[in-house]
Amino acid sequence: MRQAMASAEVGDDVLEGDPTVRRLEERVARMLGKEAALFFPSGSMANMTGIAVHASPGTEAVFDEEAHLIYGEMAGVAALCGAQIRPVRVGAGRSFMNADDLRRTIRPPSKHDPAISVIGFENTHNSSGGRVVPLSDLRALRAVADEHGIPVHMDGARLWNASAATGTSLADFGSCADTVMLSLSKGLGCPVGAILVGDAPTMRRAHAIRKRFGGGMRQSGILAAAALYALDTNLARLPEDHANARVFADAVDGAAGATVVPPDTNIVMIDLPPGVSSVDVIARAEEGGVLISEWTPTRVRAVAHLDVDAAVMAQAAAVVREAIEACAAQGALSAI
Ligand SMILES: *Cc1c(COP(=O)(O)O)cnc(C)c1O
Repeated sequence: MRQAMASAEVGDDVLEGDPTVRRLEERVARMLGKEAALFFPSGSMANMTGIAVHASPGTEAVFDEEAHLIYGEMAGVAALCGAQIRPVRVGAGRSFMNADDLRRTIRPPSKHDPAISVIGFENTHNSSGGRVVPLSDLRALRAVADEHGIPVHMDGARLWNASAATGTSLADFGSCADTVMLSLSKGLGCPVGAILVGDAPTMRRAHAIRKRFGGGMRQSGILAAAALYALDTNLARLPEDHANARVFADAVDGAAGATVVPPDTNIVMIDLPPGVSSVDVIARAEEGGVLISEWTPTRVRAVAHLDVDAAVMAQAAAVVREAIEACAAQGALSAI
């Protein structure tokens, strides 16, 4: 990837355009079945632009209550787009919104209530542990949005993983939204980058908004070359991450009574046993050379990625299992 970046053909993408960025944008637009694409420095900026092309100040943006656009992007939808976020309450026993949840959220037109200008879907769904929202669910959600004539933006930071895990094409997923954001960092392993796709007029407006957000980049072909390399080389190996996550999950499940959410993709959520805290387990795992993160005070998150092969993943699972067991034993001891 570093070599591809070093030898990239470049232009000035703020002026006449950069040939490598153009190639990346055309390639991803085709993969998603959309007319046009735009390269961004980050997923957050691409998401925010995807909302801004649809939302106007004083309207509502509707997202699943656990959406990354609500908890992970510094209230950009409110601060930068002037829209109010309305979370969709997810029905009991489910991880993410379905068509019934969305239908309940949409109020009939009224002179008292703000209009909804955009609905957001997220796939894979990060906070539930990288769960795939199946195509059938997305189509049903899209149908509800269409009934009301409301545009849809998809936060597809990990849509690559959803496609790899299910065999559903990116274009089929893409057909459920007007604009789709995909991350080039994370699973694909680029140092920088995300891409937004949509129809040509929408992407022309996105270009102006990207510029306003400070996202115009000059010899960005250096970064696009990393993404093209990742599409050639790293995209096809995502199923390895998914297999590694499953092996890790099976090995950790049940440690001192911990419960692991069976992973659909590369994210593993571990619910710790009673009395065991995330901070303690994370510290112990780190002593053993394994980095995991806190999701809640009693839930930790591990991610399989291209720097960790199956053998190392098995070792990591042993370290995390032992960390949980040690913390549980210590908790039992101090309770005496
Ligand atoms: C990481 C992430 C983003 C934002 O991407 P950045 O490149 O980190 O800004 C958006 N949505 C989801 C679901 C993510 O996981």
